[in-house]
Amino acid sequence: MLDVPSIYGSMVFSKDVMKDKLPKEVYKSVKKTIDEGIPLDPTVATIVANAMKEWAISKGATHYTHWFQPLNGITAEKHDSFITPIDYCSVIMDFSGKELIKGEPDASSFPSGGLRSTFEARGYTAWDPSSFAFIKDNTLCIPTAFFSYGGEALDKKTPLLRSMEALNVQAMRVINLFGNKDATHVLTTVGAEQEYFLIDKKLYDQRKDLIFTGRTLFGVKPPKGQELEDHYFGTIKPRVAEFMADLDVELWKLGILAKTEHNEAAPAQHEMAPIFTTTNVATDHNQLTMEVMKRVAEKHGLVCLLHEKPFAGVNGSGKHNNWSISTNTGKNLLDPGKTPSENAQFLLFLSAVIKAVDDFAPMMRASVASAGNDQRLGGNEAPPAIVSMFLGPELTDILDCIVTGKKYENHKADRIKLGVDIIPTFSKDNTDRNRTSPFAFTGNKFEFRMLGSSASIADINTVINTIVAHELKEFADVLENAEDFTASLNELIKDTVAKHNRIIFNGDGYSKEWEEEAVKRGLPILQTTVDCLPYLVKPEYTNVFFEHKVYTKSELQSRYEIELENYVKHVNIEALTALDIVRREIIPAGVTYLNELTQMSLSKKQLGFATSAFENKAITRITNLLNSLYAFADQLEDDIRPGKNFESSLEQAVYFIEVVLQDMDNIREMADKLEIITPKKYWPFPTYSDLLFN
Ligand code: ADP
Ligand code: MG
Repeated sequence: MLDVPSIYGSMVFSKDVMKDKLPKEVYKSVKKTIDEGIPLDPTVATIVANAMKEWAISKGATHYTHWFQPLNGITAEKHDSFITPIDYCSVIMDFSGKELIKGEPDASSFPSGGLRSTFEARGYTAWDPSSFAFIKDNTLCIPTAFFSYGGEALDKKTPLLRSMEALNVQAMRVINLFGNKDATHVLTTVGAEQEYFLIDKKLYDQRKDLIFTGRTLFGVKPPKGQELEDHYFGTIKPRVAEFMADLDVELWKLGILAKTEHNEAAPAQHEMAPIFTTTNVATDHNQLTMEVMKRVAEKHGLVCLLHEKPFAGVNGSGKHNNWSISTNTGKNLLDPGKTPSENAQFLLFLSAVIKAVDDFAPMMRASVASAGNDQRLGGNEAPPAIVSMFLGPELTDILDCIVTGKKYENHKADRIKLGVDIIPTFSKDNTDRNRTSPFAFTGNKFEFRMLGSSASIADINTVINTIVAHELKEFADVLENAEDFTASLNELIKDTVAKHNRIIFNGDGYSKEWEEEAVKRGLPILQTTVDCLPYLVKPEYTNVFFEHKVYTKSELQSRYEIELENYVKHVNIEALTALDIVRREIIPAGVTYLNELTQMSLSKKQLGFATSAFENKAITRITNLLNSLYAFADQLEDDIRPGKNFESSLEQAVYFIEVVLQDMDNIREMADKLEIITPKKYWPFPTYSDLLFN
C-alpha cells in the first residue's frame, strides 16, 4: 500500500528536514531568512550547504544545480557534481556555502532583451531560501533568482519576489489601520490548476507539427467533439488513471500538493489542481509540475501536450490562477469574514482589486500574451480577450447598495453602514457558477482564467500583486491621514466602486453581446499579442512597476523586446513546419489519390466504358485543391524569406500576424478540405479522431 505521508516531500529539503539536520541556532537563523526575508549569514550558509549535501547524497544525489527561470519561460539548470579532488587519485563530495548562495552560469544563451551586453555575458544566480531545495534526477536543485552583472533581473522569479514584497508593505499598512496587531507579514497565495492533453506517443511521433510546434497545424474536427460533454468528470480510462496515479506520487515526492485529477471538457483533456501555497513556491511548483507531467507521460507511452490550443475547434488548455492575499497568521484577506470590521476590511481589499483591474487591465492581458494563447483566447469557447471581473449577483448587489445608498434586500437595516453592520454571507454556489469570466471572485479568492496552459504563472502574479499593492498604497495614504476613519473608509469604497464598476460583468463572457457592451463601457479589447505588448512600454501603465520597485525601466523594455522576438520565432517555426508538411506529406498524398482516380478513369476508357460524373468531379476537385495548396505554399515561402527589413520588432510581429498566419490559414483550409475527401490509407499522419479518441 502507498504510504502517502512518508512519500510526501521525501525529495525536499524542507523546514522539517532542516530542523532535524541543522544545529538549533542555525535552524533558527535560516527560518528567519525564510519567513522574514532577512539575509542569511555566510557562516550559516556553509553549515546549511553541508547539511544539504549530506542529505542529498543520502537520497542518491551526485550533482547539484542552481535551478532558475529565465525569460524564455522554462526552467534552466546546469549540473555540477559534488566531487572535489583531494589528491591525484581520490575525491570527496564537497559543497560550500558559497556554492549554495551564488552561482555563475554562462548567461549568453538566455534571452536578455538587451539587458546584458555581449562583452558582459555573465549572469548570476542567487539562492531563494523561501523556496525549498529538492532532488530531481539525482540532482540537488537549488531554487535561485537570476540576474545580470548590473543587478537587473534576467528571470521571472526576481520581479515576482519584489512584487510580493510591495504588496506586503502596503497590505500591512491597511490591516494595521483595522487594528490587526498579530500579523507581521502579508503574502499572496496561489493555486494553479493545470490543464493538459494526453495523447498516444506512437501517434504523436507521426506528426511533425506536434513535435515541432506543440500544436496541430492541420486536421479536421472529428464528427464527435465535446458536444455530448461525456468526457468531463467521466470515468478515467485505465491508462490515463495509471498516469495520474504515477503523477501524484512524483509530485508528492517533490512536496507539490497535487490534490485533484480529473477529465476536462474536451476529449483527451485533463486537469490537475494542487492545494494553494505562497505565490513564489506555487510558481516553482507549477514549473516542476509541467516538467514532471511530460516525463511521467513518456513512461506510460503517452505525450503530455501543454500547448494552449493543440487542436483547432476543440477546447484549448489554460491554467486557472487562483489568487488571494493572506496574513502570516493564516487570515485570508479576501474572505468576507463574519464581523463588521472584517467585512469592512474585506470590502476595502475588494475595492482595491476592482480598481487595480480596471486601471491596469491591459497589463494583465499583456502578461498572458503569447503566440500559443492567441490561438485560444477570444474563440467562442475560450475566455474572451476582454478583461472583466465576475463578483456574483449578491456581492454586486451589496456594492450597488453601498454606492447608491439603496436598501439591501436581505438586510434588516435601511442601508449598509460599513464598520457597523454585518453584511450577509453569500453562498459559494453563487460566486462560483460563472465559468466564462476571465477574473472571477470565487468566495475567498479570485480565479484568473486567461493564462495559457504552457505559461509560467510568474508574470501574471507579478502584475496582480503590484497593481493591487499600488491601490492599497493610495488607500492607506488617505486612511492614515483621515480624521474620521469610518467615514473616510465609506467614502473611499463608495467612490472607488462607483468609478470602476464598469469592469464588473456577471453575464456570459463568451457572448457576442458582451463584446458590444464592453466597447460601450470603454473597456480595452486586445485580441492578439501585438495588440497588448505595446502596453509594456506605456508610461501610464508601467510607472507603478517602477514606483514599487518591481521592474526597472530597462527590465520592462527588455521583456517587451523578448516577448515580441519570441512571438516571431514561434510563428516562424510553425510556418516552416507547415511548409514542410504540406509539400512533403499532404500534396504527395493528394497526388497519390489523384493518380489512382485518373488510372481508373483511363482503364475504364480503354475498356470502352464512359467516364462517370463522380470521377470528373473528384479529379477536378482534387486538382483544384492541389493547385491552391501549391500556390499558397509558394506564397508562404516567399513571405517568410529572411532578409525583409522591419523598422522595429513590433512591426515584424504585426507582419507575422497579418501576413504569415494568414498564409498558414489559407494552406490549412485547403489541406483540411483535401483530408475530408482523401482515403484514410493515403493520409500521411494520424487524424484528429485517431489522436483524440484513441
Ligand atoms: P474548485 O475550483 O474545484 O471549486 P476550489 O475553489 O476549492 O476548487 O479550489 C480551486 C483552486 O483554488 C485550488 O488549487 C485551491 O487550492 C485554490 N485555492 C483555494 N483557496 C485559495 C486561496 N486562499 N488562495 C489561493 N488559492 C486558493
Ligand atoms: Mg476552479
